[in-house]
Amino acid sequence: MKTADEYVESLRQLNPEVYFMGERIKNVVDHPAFRPHINSASVTYKIAHMAEHRDIATATSHLTGERINRWTHIPQTQEDLVNKVKMLRIAGQITGTCFQRCVGMDALISLYSITHDMDRELNTSYHERFRQFLIRTQQEDLMTDGAMTDPKGDRSKRPSEQHDPDLFVRVVERRPDGIVVRGAKMHQTGATNSHQILVLPGQSMTESDRDYAIAFATPVNAPGVIFVFGRQVNDSRKWEGRLDQGNPRYGSVGGESLIIFDNVFVPWEQVFLCGETEYTGTLVDRFASYHRQNYGACKSGNLDVLIGAATSVADMQGTLKASHVKDKLGEMAHLAETMYSGALACSFHSSTLESGVAFVDPLLASTSKLNTARYYPEVTKLAQDIAGGFVATMPGEQELDNPRVGHFVKKYYQTKANTDPVERMRMGRLMENMTGATSMIECMHGAGSPQAQKVVVQRTINWQQKRELAHKIIHADPFADDE
Ligand code: SF4
Ligand code: FE
Repeated sequence: MKTADEYVESLRQLNPEVYFMGERIKNVVDHPAFRPHINSASVTYKIAHMAEHRDIATATSHLTGERINRWTHIPQTQEDLVNKVKMLRIAGQITGTCFQRCVGMDALISLYSITHDMDRELNTSYHERFRQFLIRTQQEDLMTDGAMTDPKGDRSKRPSEQHDPDLFVRVVERRPDGIVVRGAKMHQTGATNSHQILVLPGQSMTESDRDYAIAFATPVNAPGVIFVFGRQVNDSRKWEGRLDQGNPRYGSVGGESLIIFDNVFVPWEQVFLCGETEYTGTLVDRFASYHRQNYGACKSGNLDVLIGAATSVADMQGTLKASHVKDKLGEMAHLAETMYSGALACSFHSSTLESGVAFVDPLLASTSKLNTARYYPEVTKLAQDIAGGFVATMPGEQELDNPRVGHFVKKYYQTKANTDPVERMRMGRLMENMTGATSMIECMHGAGSPQAQKVVVQRTINWQQKRELAHKIIHADPFADDE
């Protein structure tokens, strides 16, 4: 297993084609816009080597019997699913933000089971190929970017009906040695600091969309793979200083990119689905379920940090003992634990797929993610309420060293006599970071927008059974023998 340092160093060798703010970025590792996200992802390597977390953050590969990082593991048991959730909460508490490696983990898990199903039912050899790919991923402890979301163009039209055929990733050429693909994937968390990209179809495909039904892997530095790194709210603070970032080491959210596949060649050994439209729906559903499992875990870990910041600020401001503040802090903790409960529940309520892979309960996973999209903003609102307006109106950190106003800023930002005003400002900036627009939007749309989870709930619930339950109750005879 790689150490955190080895992971960071391994990125230096890759040199993918990355653009940010009009420039080609040669070295993401030493660039201030990228480094915090790299640090955050490196925690997924670090905790596998920490004595107190090793049992949770590592697993035994069912393919090689070797000890591997859990972010490359295929869950085989209910305990594996539960440990996945526990691991994400730990990493969420350490980083206070997204550590990015879970999308790739969930893409590996879902594609493993789907290729197994295809080989059994269609006599293909995708699964054997995928196992080889997975063994390499596990042994080299690679970070995989799981790429799902296509640009999608006009949402009322299917991939093959779009005015521009490239709005979903597609095969443009089939060769004896492989395929050529074109298109793009959006919002790719941690993509510029991954070793490889695992592309999955973003939605269920019909027969007319055959060229769009593809799953494949490519190294991040393959010719024609281009990354355009996205901007975030307040991102220039990353190169302006430290304090104003709020979370200077780990940043804010995942560092997302648009990935363009400009006629990228993919050898057959790296192609895991090509034209089997009938499997795309199940693949997408499985992936979505595994990723929705995560949100109650990583985000409750993040909220542990935010609750800590709100408590510290209340203490510094002399409001910690006020009953309404205690009530709000209690509500914040209750909502965070509710999110975590959902992540655990869908893991405990697991089943085993044909391939031997442990699968979360899709209904509970979607419910859990929907609760996260609802509760995370609720908790941030309470945090802002407790902290007060200074979180939004503080002077910049440069003013602290300004000979004319520095001492005034410290004097007037001091609250209780024994508090350090700079410490209070740091906590305020962290709260600003964690409750700002980029975090809110990520938490709503990551693992699918809330409407997608509502659809699963509406589709999965047995409405007739519920009606029958009510019907039975109203017609039951109080004096009849037990039925
Ligand atoms: Fe992992 Fe959470 Fe980030 Fe998704 S949002 S990649 S589950 S840390
Ligand atoms: Fe996410």
